[in-house]
Amino acid sequence: MKIRRTTTPILSAAALVALAALAAMPTATASSASPAPTPVTGSPAPVPTNPQPDDGTEDSSIPEGVDNESLPGGITPRAGAGQHRVTVRVAADEEWRNQLGTKWKSVANTILEKADDRMQAEFGINVVVKEYVGYTSNDSLGDDECALLGDMTGKVGNNSKDIVVGFLGQGSFGGCAYLDGDHTVILRTNQVKEWQIARHEISHLFAAKDRYINVAGDNPNHVDDVMEDPYDNPNRWVSPDHGIIDNHAGKFD
Ligand SMILES: [Zn+2]
Repeated sequence: MKIRRTTTPILSAAALVALAALAAMPTATASSASPAPTPVTGSPAPVPTNPQPDDGTEDSSIPEGVDNESLPGGITPRAGAGQHRVTVRVAADEEWRNQLGTKWKSVANTILEKADDRMQAEFGINVVVKEYVGYTSNDSLGDDECALLGDMTGKVGNNSKDIVVGFLGQGSFGGCAYLDGDHTVILRTNQVKEWQIARHEISHLFAAKDRYINVAGDNPNHVDDVMEDPYDNPNRWVSPDHGIIDNHAGKFD
C-alpha cells in the first residue's frame, strides 16, 4: 500500500533550505499591482523588506504545554528505556491558527502528547512543548509537505528548544522531517492521523528511515511498523528501526 506524505526529503537539509529560499525570493513580477518598476541599473539586487525573521506572533499565554509525564494505562515502559526530555517549539501557520481558533495550541499539544506515549515507553523520549509561535506559510507551495518544511525551517528557528514541530492548516495531510534533524511539519487532517504522522515524523528526527516499498524497496521483508505504515501499525518499531531510534534517543540530552 502506498502511503502518502509521511516522507523525508530526498535532498539534504541544506539543499532543501536553499531551494526554499529560492522559492521565497521576490521576483520582478511579485508586485504586479504596482506600476512598472524603475530599472535600478548598477545597483545590488533589492533586499526583501519583510523577510519574516524567525516567526510571526509569539504567544506566551500558554508558555508551556501540559506535559503528560505518566503513561496511559496499558503502556508499560520497556526495561532499559532511558529518560530523554525533548523540548519543543511549536510553530503553527496562519491556516492552522485560523481553522482552530483559540484551541490551536491545545490541539497541537494533545497531538504531541499522544504521539510521544509509545516513544516514551520504548525509548524514554518525552516531548515537552515549551513555546508556541505563529508564522506565515508560503501559500504558493500548496500541499508539498517537504517544500513547506523548508519554508518553515527558513522562518522559524529553535530558540534554544531541541526541536521545532510545525502544524499546518495548509495542504491535505501528511508530514515531512529532516532525517536525524530537528525540524518537522505535520499537515492538518484529523487528530488520529495527526498523532500517527507526528510519531512517524519525530522518529525521523531520531534517524529512523522510511520503510515504504517505494522508498525502501524491501518492505516485504520488514514487519509493518511506524516507519512503514503508521496508520495501521502506529504502536511498534521493529528492527532495524527500533535499534536506530534507541541509539539516537539521547541526541538532545
Ligand atoms: Zn517518513
